[in-house]
Amino acid sequence: MAARLLLRSTFRAATACRVARAAPAPALTRSMATGGIPTDEEQATGLERIIMENMKEGKDPYNMMKPKAYSGTKDDPNIVPSITNKRIVGCVCEEDNTAVVWFWIHEGEAQRCPSCGSYYKLVHYDLPH
Ligand SMILES: [Zn+2]
Repeated sequence: MAARLLLRSTFRAATACRVARAAPAPALTRSMATGGIPTDEEQATGLERIIMENMKEGKDPYNMMKPKAYSGTKDDPNIVPSITNKRIVGCVCEEDNTAVVWFWIHEGEAQRCPSCGSYYKLVHYDLPH
């Protein structure tokens, strides 16, 4: 009798394991709603939250991403954002140059680097806050 009960419980345990393996594993979640550790999105506040929300929309309000590359020609000048009507620009004219050519650019037409001739255009930029 005892052997039959032991055999029956062993059979049930084995079938339960097989069923458990066939069922899809529950998705791992760590959100606060399920009682887990809060994600970065759930616990961010203030400026960090503003930045995370803008990054999701593809915006870069604080210029944290690598700037877009321009060809530097008259038709596709390097864009220089500024909160005023002028800004000083440093141009590394050739890739392996050790010296930087500094010059002022002003709002209006695109201006050329005095050394290499690359075009730079000042564009007005409002601070996000
Ligand atoms: Zn240059």
